[in-house]
Amino acid sequence: MASQQQDLVFAPLGGVGEIGMNLSIYGVGDERRRTWMAVDLGVSFAAEEHLPGVDLILPDIRYLVEERKNLVGLVLTHAHEDHYGALIDLWPRLKVPIYATPFTAALLEAKCANEPGAPKIPVTIVGLGSRFNVGPFDIELVTMAHSIPESNALIIRTPGGTVLHTGDWKIDPTPILGDRTDEKKLRALGEEGCLALVGDSTNAVREGRSPSEADVAKTITELVKTARGRVAVTTFASNVARLRTVADAARATDREVVVIGRAMERVVQIARETGYLDGVQDFRPVDAYGYLPPNKVVALCTGSQGEPRAALSRIAEDQHPEVTFSHGDRVIYSARTIPGNEKAVGRVINLLIEQGIEVITDRTHLVHVSGHPRRAELEELIGWVKPKVVIPVHGEALHLHEHAALARRCGVREVLQCRNGDLVQLAPQIRLIDEVPAGRLYKDGRILVEADSRTVADRKRLSFAGAVSVAIVITEKGEMVDDPSLDLMGIPDRDREGGSMHDAAHDAVIETFDSLPRNRRRDPDAVAEALRRAVRAAIAERWGKKPMCRVHVLTV
Ligand SMILES: [Zn+2]
Ligand SMILES: [Zn+2]
Repeated sequence: MASQQQDLVFAPLGGVGEIGMNLSIYGVGDERRRTWMAVDLGVSFAAEEHLPGVDLILPDIRYLVEERKNLVGLVLTHAHEDHYGALIDLWPRLKVPIYATPFTAALLEAKCANEPGAPKIPVTIVGLGSRFNVGPFDIELVTMAHSIPESNALIIRTPGGTVLHTGDWKIDPTPILGDRTDEKKLRALGEEGCLALVGDSTNAVREGRSPSEADVAKTITELVKTARGRVAVTTFASNVARLRTVADAARATDREVVVIGRAMERVVQIARETGYLDGVQDFRPVDAYGYLPPNKVVALCTGSQGEPRAALSRIAEDQHPEVTFSHGDRVIYSARTIPGNEKAVGRVINLLIEQGIEVITDRTHLVHVSGHPRRAELEELIGWVKPKVVIPVHGEALHLHEHAALARRCGVREVLQCRNGDLVQLAPQIRLIDEVPAGRLYKDGRILVEADSRTVADRKRLSFAGAVSVAIVITEKGEMVDDPSLDLMGIPDRDREGGSMHDAAHDAVIETFDSLPRNRRRDPDAVAEALRRAVRAAIAERWGKKPMCRVHVLTV
């Protein structure tokens, strides 16, 4: 019995082998009556060309749904989309108690209020650095510096051992806003004894340390000071330290801050309510922009990822009702371009440059820093915490691999590389014991579909090679009534010799039908399949691509 109570297991259900959609679960107790808690429930953003029409990718939570009665709670580490973005869609399937610190809870509430039909998600608000119980799990929060206020690591104490789940973090001695990474508490954990460190691998390929938020502040202040016209800064709205930096730079140069874009307005309001903009001057609403002289304004804009409807994109296209930039103005991209968004960001930058606007990015100036630890920081954390085992998470294969190699070099006794869906036993032994269902869901319009469902794959094929629809009517005796009706969509009208594609498909239908033996002509399914093949082959021969084809056979 005693040994059974010592059981401690871990399974990542998202975020391992990919950046995004973080979801981890921890279990105590033996297999037959295990109690689970979850950490984070995030999304990934889909790249349009791979998944046409899909907005978001979410972790498949079928295993948690199955285990719902044994799931005692879900703790959010922070309010980045890759950690909490799937809650609105997936919480109704779990109805589990949520734990979050005040800023995270406030952002979640605002997000729900802005999304029609969002569920009412009850959140237990827990203080920074606090200690509380989630069922049999004794949780203590550790404040970590990151690119959003209130990023928390979790110390998860169980009878089987103690885990440090780092969440997203860096070591920044001068973070501008919020407390520094709580080195003292992490060192104390090392003294107390830490079984496992489950940690952020995002920047494990990068040498040295992340520059500080204060270094970015210096650059931005300088760039605002030396600007002659208007200055616009675009960044992630949730990076409140960066908003504060822009505000300070504006004040130092006697400029007003104008907030442009709804996401930015929302975060500014929440940051004011939660005290993160205390002492910062009032910002001006967008309608003030028009009458401020160019050298008296700094615009804080949404749209750092090239989102087509965000403020900066609309301004660049000259589509914004209240805001324009002109020759000699300066736009600062104070954000990283998330992989997959490069084209969209490039398009906006080019539009700005064509209008004579100066664009400054992190390629030439230190106007952005990552919120994730580089190698020297990873080493330092391992030195403080002295874990028996390190499990790299939050990264693609390369990042996980580099994090694992680094941990080994640091002399960590055991390094365990796992994948989404692996069930890892941490106590009494450290080993992979099983697999649990894991995967992806797509948010397709308002609907969640399984990643292996046909809809998205069909749409991808349609976008590549179009479709043909054929309708014919046959009699009981197997004779065709009237001419077949064909519709070609997304297919060139003519082939290289000038022949009509429509006629080619039409002829293929007639010839194939005539060549079928009479008894097969009476079988609508056999007819449909034969015509489908013939039409696709006829078009492929002329075009080099095979469209989708649907054949409707009506019998009279
Ligand atoms: Zn984050
Ligand atoms: Zn993250």
